[in-house]
Amino acid sequence: MPLPILVTGGAGYIGSHTCVALIEAGHVPLVLDNLCNSSVESLARVQRITGVRPLWVEGDIRDAALLQRVLAEHRPQAVIHFAGLKAVGESVREPLAYYDNNVGGTTILLQAMQEAGLRNLIFSSSATVYGNPASVPISEDFPRSATNPYGRSKLMIEDILGDLVGADPRWRVARLRYFNPVGAHASGLIGEDPRGIPNNLMPYITQVAVGRLPELQVFGGDWPTPDGTGVRDFIHVMDLAEGHVAALAHLLGEPGMFTVNLGTGQGCSVLQMVQAFERNSGRRVPYRIVPRRAGDIAACWADASAAHRLLHWQARRDLDTICADAWRWQQANPQGLR
Ligand code: NAD
Ligand code: UDP
Repeated sequence: MPLPILVTGGAGYIGSHTCVALIEAGHVPLVLDNLCNSSVESLARVQRITGVRPLWVEGDIRDAALLQRVLAEHRPQAVIHFAGLKAVGESVREPLAYYDNNVGGTTILLQAMQEAGLRNLIFSSSATVYGNPASVPISEDFPRSATNPYGRSKLMIEDILGDLVGADPRWRVARLRYFNPVGAHASGLIGEDPRGIPNNLMPYITQVAVGRLPELQVFGGDWPTPDGTGVRDFIHVMDLAEGHVAALAHLLGEPGMFTVNLGTGQGCSVLQMVQAFERNSGRRVPYRIVPRRAGDIAACWADASAAHRLLHWQARRDLDTICADAWRWQQANPQGLR
């Protein structure tokens, strides 16, 4: 059996889809998750999709003794590090929880890896590190900034990783900046399962369509975009997951650090997404245009060429596939997995 890939936060939304992609590529995922925002049922679902159950440890990345044991026992060849908190609004209200979990948790993980002689890491960064970009599409050399503690935690971790590679060239680090991950595995067995009322557009739309919420509020109809609503780069979560497999292959092949956007390179407005969803679900999505949400930006999409050049990867699934897959997941699991 090949040495496993440690997947922190692997029971969560992107992590569970990445486990599927890893297994399909012949890797053995070893998931470490404290289940603070997920359910272990997602791993049972990964097994139903692939026939393989990921190795599983319930625990926290801030538990140094646990990490030490897991690294010694399983000898993973690399770590894909998804574990962290991700709600922007919550990070403004509870900044310490975000710095503790995201920044503190990552340094504890890095320390444990260093002590175990394991120096291969893929990190989940975000397009949020570009702040309010001066233009679109956004390439990796754009200036970085943050407007909230969540974004700042991603900036800090990116810098910590840069320092680490600078100090010890044996580290191999990938900093992957995700644009807007949406959709679900085509089986409808795993998908996004937010707690409470969703903050993000896509789960909000699917919950309106399934009747859990009455209508979508569209935050702003007066943005400087073609239809006045916000424009984002929505990437199918399975494309994103496959991007991690490609990044892993590159990482294991060459030492050093690389930073790439994972997006489609295409912008799609909120109203275009509503229309695509209606077309693919056969449901109406009632909406109302309300004032802009604090902290939002007009438009954000990736220059996705670096990932293509470096990783030989590009997003393949279109907007219709995204909507059809999100709807299949929502219909089959109207209350999510918990
Ligand atoms: P998620 O909440 O579904 O997954 C994160 C997982 O990490 C959860 O299963 C949670 O239980 C676990 N976790 C959190 N803190 C932990 C800890 N201290 N120890 C162990 N496990 C812990 O979120 P996701 O959407 O799958 O995001 C994964 C990563 O990608 C996060 O780092 C997030 O910041 C980043 N990211 C997400 C998006 C997005 O829109 N979903 C965009 C850019 C970046
Ligand atoms: N949005 C919206 N209504 C919602 C949630 C989001 O109109 O209930 C808009 C939001 O203003 C932005 C886009 O949808 O223009 C994507 O927002 P999301 O929170 O999904 O991701 P973000 O790009 O903010 O990380």
